[in-house]
Amino acid sequence: MFLSVKGLTKAFGELEVLKDINLDIEEGNILAIIGPSGSGKTTLLRCLNVLEVPNKGEFTFDDGFKVNFDKPMRKKEITELRRKSGMVFQSYNLFPHKTALENVTEGPLIVQKRPKSEVIELAENILNKVGLGDKMNLYPHQLSGGQQQRVGIARALAIKPQLMLFDEPTSALDPELVGEVLKVIKDLANEGWTMAIVTHELKFAEQVSDQVIFMDEGQIVEQGPPEAVLRSPQKERTQQFLKRIL
Ligand code: ADP
Repeated sequence: MFLSVKGLTKAFGELEVLKDINLDIEEGNILAIIGPSGSGKTTLLRCLNVLEVPNKGEFTFDDGFKVNFDKPMRKKEITELRRKSGMVFQSYNLFPHKTALENVTEGPLIVQKRPKSEVIELAENILNKVGLGDKMNLYPHQLSGGQQQRVGIARALAIKPQLMLFDEPTSALDPELVGEVLKVIKDLANEGWTMAIVTHELKFAEQVSDQVIFMDEGQIVEQGPPEAVLRSPQKERTQQFLKRIL
C-alpha cells in the first residue's frame, strides 16, 4: 500500500465538503476519481497534496510516514507531504513570463535547491519525453493548450514525486487536443507511476485505471475496479450519474 487515507474530513466554514473519506492507493496503481460537479473531487485531490489542509483524518504512507490532521500540522509535515506528490492543474497554472524549460526547472532549482546543470539536463529530458523537445524555449502564450498542459505535467514530474495528481487535466482543452495529453498520462501509467486522476473521460478512466471511486456529496459512494464501477455499478446514484454522462 503506497498510501492509506482514513477518516478524511474537510469543511469550508459550515459546508462539509469531504465526509469521512477512506481510501487506499496501491504502489504503481492508477486511481480514477469520478462524480458530479461539486461532489468534492478536486478538494480530495488538493487534500492529498495539502493545498487544502484536512480538518480530520490520517494519512499513512508505506515508508512509515504518518500524519494525523486532528492536531495542528507542523510545517515540516506539510513540506514532507508536499514533496511526495506532484499536481497537474486543470488550467495548467504555468508561470506566464517563464519559458517551458524555466517552468520545469523552477521547482527543483528554487524549492529543492538542486544543482543547476543537473536540473537543466533533467528538465530537457522530461520535456523531450512529453514531446516538447523543440518547444523548450517558448513561453506559455506561444504554446497550444495541449502543449501547455504537457509542460504542466513535465513540471510536476521534475520534482520526482512518488504520487502524481491530475485534476481534470483535459477539461480546459479543445477536443482535438485532449488525445495528446491523455497519451502522455497513459505513457506514465505504463511506466508504473502511482497516480490519482480526477476525470470526466470515462473511456480513458476505464482504459488506464486500476481502481475507480465514484463520489457524490462529499462521500465515496462506490469504489472498485473500473469494469465493476463503470460497467455494472451497484448503487443507484452511480447508475444515474453514468446514465447521464454516457
Ligand atoms: P468537484 O471537484 O467534485 O467539482 P470541489 O471539490 O471543487 O468539487 O467542490 C466541492 C464543494 O466545495 C463545492 O460545493 C464547492 O463550492 C466547495 N468549495 C471548494 N473549494 C472551496 C473553497 N476554497 N471555499 C469554499 N468552498 C469551496
